[in-house]
Amino acid sequence: MADWKCKNCGYTMSAEKPPDQCPSCKEKCEFLDVSCYIPECGLQGSDTRLK
Ligand SMILES: [Zn+2]
Repeated sequence: MADWKCKNCGYTMSAEKPPDQCPSCKEKCEFLDVSCYIPECGLQGSDTRLK
């Protein structure tokens, strides 16, 4: 699982792959992989919220 952030509206979601269409802004957005880059991830290399 990875964390994806919509480049258009900033919506974030956890999924194996980014969706074709953003659930938030209903656009075909570009999604950025933000897994392990978010502050909550800390230095552990993974997001503990997902476990
Ligand atoms: Zn969006």
